[in-house]
Amino acid sequence: MKTAQKSETDTGESPECAKEIGSTGDGLTMTPDTPGGIPGNAQFSFLKRVPPHARELRLRIIWPDGESKAPTGFDYPGNANFGLVLKDILFVSEDGDTWTRLSDARPHGLGAEVTLPPAGRKVWLSVGVPYFERHLRALTHYAEASADWAVTEIGKSGEGRPIHGFLRGPSDPRACHGTFFIQAYQHYSEWAGLYAVDALVRNLAGLPGAERFAWAVVPCLNRDALACGWRGDAMHNGTAADLPCGGNLNRDWTALSRPETRAAADFFGGAAEAHPPVRHALDFHMGWSTPERSGGGLTVFKEGELNATEARRERAFTDFFFEYVPIEDFAWEHSELDRPNFAAWSVRTFGGLGQTVEISRFRAYDAARKPVPVSRDYYASLGPKAAEALIRFHTPAL
Ligand SMILES: [Zn+2]
Repeated sequence: MKTAQKSETDTGESPECAKEIGSTGDGLTMTPDTPGGIPGNAQFSFLKRVPPHARELRLRIIWPDGESKAPTGFDYPGNANFGLVLKDILFVSEDGDTWTRLSDARPHGLGAEVTLPPAGRKVWLSVGVPYFERHLRALTHYAEASADWAVTEIGKSGEGRPIHGFLRGPSDPRACHGTFFIQAYQHYSEWAGLYAVDALVRNLAGLPGAERFAWAVVPCLNRDALACGWRGDAMHNGTAADLPCGGNLNRDWTALSRPETRAAADFFGGAAEAHPPVRHALDFHMGWSTPERSGGGLTVFKEGELNATEARRERAFTDFFFEYVPIEDFAWEHSELDRPNFAAWSVRTFGGLGQTVEISRFRAYDAARKPVPVSRDYYASLGPKAAEALIRFHTPAL
């Protein structure tokens, strides 16, 4: 049997999301090519194949100013500071698996400049650490081969790609403590959540107490954006402009107008019915950075949205989570029960708690909780830690 993996470009699709805007003898200038008028998080993405180069190559990345006018609902002001951290989160990779941070990158205007060593083949250059479609295929194969997980195709994306749901039942169904919902990648370029959920799926068996719960996981909801970058994301490619959600999957959990959200809602609903009650839903995203915030944090409901007991439990979990999971300890008081996002949908439909985990695009923390630049390993470490927080909080006797 042929097992050779096709590269990202062999498939004819590419998640590249950057363009060359100038070149000189020894240098290239590039910029993100997200459509204009979509400032904010959506611009925080840059992924490009750099051609082979026999000599050192000087690369400049010009960052958009982030201050241009955004459409209603996409207004995340204060992003201009992202250009200032760019030099800390430039990565290069030959194979798309091992990513090396370019530690000699220098700030250059609102952007960065870096010198790439000679390379005999194409290399990936990225802002942040990409997670590719084949990584999701490998995770799906892992879960299919594992005795712990039941993998099902729960539906197809807008462009017909399969969406998978992974269910890990409790070891003793009669003594089940309830179900956790885990989801990632509703929005293109928010790769950190994919690394977190990938590691959660692979490491759950080693976490004491995990077997007392059911785990319903949709590791990647926005399959089209994973395959094709912003060009595949219905929010940006215009294919869903006529829908109330505008193609933003995380604004579609009231109408369920997209095939992706309908598939996931059915899958999570089935898990809730088989293994009640739903204890907690966590939805992984990458957050909105401002001059004051790294973009890390956890959403909490506004005062008065939850009853007093649930509100107390949500705040208690939030503090508990920050102790286990090294992201910025920012409780973003933002959620309302009638909002069309996944966390609110889970709470109003099934009860329990529901929160959006926001992971920073540039700030990680080391073992001593000192801020350091992000890495693939940091992102992966967050998933098992989040699972541990869920297990321990919802099993007080442990
Ligand atoms: Zn998001």
